[in-house]
Amino acid sequence: MQALSQLSYTPEEPAIVRHDRCGAQVGWRRVLDSIAPAIASRAALPRRREPSSPQLFRTAPMTARILDGAALAKSIRAEVAQRAAALAARDRPAGLAVILVGEDPASSVYVRNKVKDCEESGIRSTLDRMPADTTQAALLARIAALNADPAIHGILVQLPLPPQIDAHAVIEAISPAKDVDGFHVASAGALMTGQPGFRPCTPYGVMKMLEHAGATLRGAEAVVVGRSNIVGKPQAMLLLQADATVTICHSRTRDLAAHTRRADVLVAAVGRTKMITGDMIKPGAIVIDVGMNRDEAGKLCGDVDFDSAREVAGWITPVPGGVGPMTRAMLLVNTIEAAERAAR
Ligand code: NAP
Repeated sequence: MQALSQLSYTPEEPAIVRHDRCGAQVGWRRVLDSIAPAIASRAALPRRREPSSPQLFRTAPMTARILDGAALAKSIRAEVAQRAAALAARDRPAGLAVILVGEDPASSVYVRNKVKDCEESGIRSTLDRMPADTTQAALLARIAALNADPAIHGILVQLPLPPQIDAHAVIEAISPAKDVDGFHVASAGALMTGQPGFRPCTPYGVMKMLEHAGATLRGAEAVVVGRSNIVGKPQAMLLLQADATVTICHSRTRDLAAHTRRADVLVAAVGRTKMITGDMIKPGAIVIDVGMNRDEAGKLCGDVDFDSAREVAGWITPVPGGVGPMTRAMLLVNTIEAAERAAR
C-alpha cells in the first residue's frame, strides 16, 4: 500500500484516502458523497439505537424524543399478568398486602391505584386501612401477621406515616423476603454490594426505561440530582452497577448547572417545580424527570422545565406519563418475583 506522503493529488481530489470493501483507494470527496445518503437518512435510523451516543451529533436546537413510561409500563404489566396466571395455575397465586395508616388524600390515591394495578394483573391484594391514631405497636403487630402469612408475598406500608410512628422501625419490621418496596436495609445493602434483592421501584423503573431506549450506560456521565434513600441514592447505585460514572447532587451542591451540563444521563429527583432548565442540559442528553409537583395552576409537573429541556435533550420523560407509571409497574414486578421465589 502507498504511504499517504507518496500520493499525488489535486485540489478536487484531496489526498486523504480510505479503502473500499474491495481494497480500492477512494478519494475523500467520494467518501463524503458515498456517506451523504446515510447522513441524510439518519433521522430514519431505528429508534432504539438513537441514544447510544446521544451527545455526539447534536449542536443545533432539536426536539427530544419522548420516553413513554405509560406505554412501557403497559407492556410490563402484560408480562406480569402472564407470570401471575402461571402461578395461579399452579395454585400458588401471588399476593400483595398494602397498609394505609390515616387519611392522607394523596396516599389514598396511590394505594387505590396499587390495588387496582394488582387486580388488573391477576395479583391478589389486601388493603388494610388503619386509623390515623394507630400506635406503632399495632402496626408492627399487623406486619408480623403478614410476614407469617404464606398467601402474602409482598408487604407495602404507604408512606408517610403519622408522627407517632417511626417509619424506619416499620420498614425494618417487614421481612426482607416480602420487602417489595425495596426500602429495608437488607435490600439497600444487597443493592450496595451487588447481591440479588428487591430494588426500589422508582429507580428500578428508570433503569428499565433507559434499557428500553437503548442507552449505552457504560462509561456514560450520569448525574442524579437528589439523594433520598428511596430515589436518589438507589438510582445512583443502579447507574454505577451499569458502569456509568455517577455524580450525586443535592441541596448543598455548589454550581448545580456545572454538573448537570456534563450529564449524558440526567436524573432529577428533587421535588422542585421546573428547577432543571434547558440551559442546564447537555445537548442530546437523556433526561429523566422523577419529580411530581404541582405548578401555580395546580397542574402536575416535574422537576424539569419540559419546554426548554426538550429543545436540548435527546430523550426526555414527560410528567405525567413518564416515571410514575413505571414505578407502579415495578411494584408488580417485585411482587411477582417475590411470589415466584416463594413458589420455588
Ligand atoms: P426528598 O426525600 O425530599 O429528596 C429530595 C432531594 O432533593 C434531597 O436529596 C435534597 O437534598 C435534594 N434537593 C433539594 N433542593 C435541592 C436543590 N435546590 N438542588 C439540588 N438538590 C436539591 O424527595 P424524594 O422522595 O427523593 O422525591 C423527589 C421527587 O420525586 C418528589 O417530587 C417526589 O414526589 C417525586 N417522586 C416521584 C416518584 C414517581 O413515581 N414518579 C416516586 C418517588 C418520588 P438534601 O438531601 O441536601 O436535602
